[in-house]
Amino acid sequence: RKGNVIITGASSGLGLATAKALAEKGQWHVIMACRNFLKAERAAKSAGIPKENYTIMHLDLASLESVRQFVNNFRQSGRQLDVLVCNAAVYLPTAKEPSFTAEGFELSVGTNHLGHFLLSRLLLDDIKQSDYPAKRLIIVGSITGNTNTLAGNVPPKANLGDLRGLTGGLNGINSSAMIDGGEFDGAKAYKDSKVCNMLTMQEFHRRFHEETGISFASLYPGCIATTGLFREHIPLFRLLFPPFQKYITRGYVSEEEAGERLAQVVSDPSLTKSGVYWSWNKNSASFENQLSKEASDPQKAQKLWDISEKLVGLA
Ligand code: NDP
Repeated sequence: RKGNVIITGASSGLGLATAKALAEKGQWHVIMACRNFLKAERAAKSAGIPKENYTIMHLDLASLESVRQFVNNFRQSGRQLDVLVCNAAVYLPTAKEPSFTAEGFELSVGTNHLGHFLLSRLLLDDIKQSDYPAKRLIIVGSITGNTNTLAGNVPPKANLGDLRGLTGGLNGINSSAMIDGGEFDGAKAYKDSKVCNMLTMQEFHRRFHEETGISFASLYPGCIATTGLFREHIPLFRLLFPPFQKYITRGYVSEEEAGERLAQVVSDPSLTKSGVYWSWNKNSASFENQLSKEASDPQKAQKLWDISEKLVGLA
């Protein structure tokens, strides 16, 4: 049978390119988990994804209620789940004030980390039950959360501190809207959320890989300077960022190429190792990359896991 893969945020950018790459291989049925049904349908059509190879299902990661509803709807579809890709994200670099999810968590960490945390915790059981030979759970990371790289050292740097803001609920009322308890900074909140994504993947690996055989992975697909991720940035940035990445840092990768990379992590038999953060070199060959000290700290990962469980109502 075809493999079934859920991709969150498949209505644009990396998620859409990955959906296309997988659906075109013919061996995958892609469940596009998106907050805007019409946008997703239009995107799938204009990308030319074969109709029989995708289904769109509503998911708004900024609402835990919606995450639970999505899981119920997926279960009712009767499909087995073989691979889950947590890809959706928001990035609010120019926001002066924090915005919040339905449950009142700062929007970037609430969407990128907490929404995906609940989703993957709930769907773990479904992946476990699948009879597919290579089952995987993938969470898209980023270089920007990795302070052991040049890009990760551009201020404001990611830093979760002692997680006091997260412990307080990130609500901006009786706790800070930032994980480390500091002043709100949208760019930093995004980077922090990506550190959470990478820590979560490793904690999943430690807790569940042996028992379930599921491969847990994260990746940095390269700088895809043309995606909607930068939509909130100032116009001059949006104009100069793609050529800067293309010709100066040479970290630029097209949406199509990045989609092929993520599709490899979903389906390539040589990329099944669990607990790995994948990256690609200049010749587009994959390799196991090193994470920064903070993004690979097992104690922090455990603490993040415990606090996140409480916030999403699992503990
Ligand atoms: P895009 O903005 O193009 O795509 C983000 C997707 O997330 C969109 O489909 C968006 O939906 C969706 N989304 C946002 N909020 C929600 C929500 N509340 N519920 C459901 N879906 C939501 O950005 P990219 O493709 O660049 O980003 C994809 C991933 O790649 C992210 O995890 C990002 O961190 C990562 N990444 C990107 C890099 C880059 O250079 N672009 C580099 C490294 C990592 P909608 O279409 O409705 O807005």
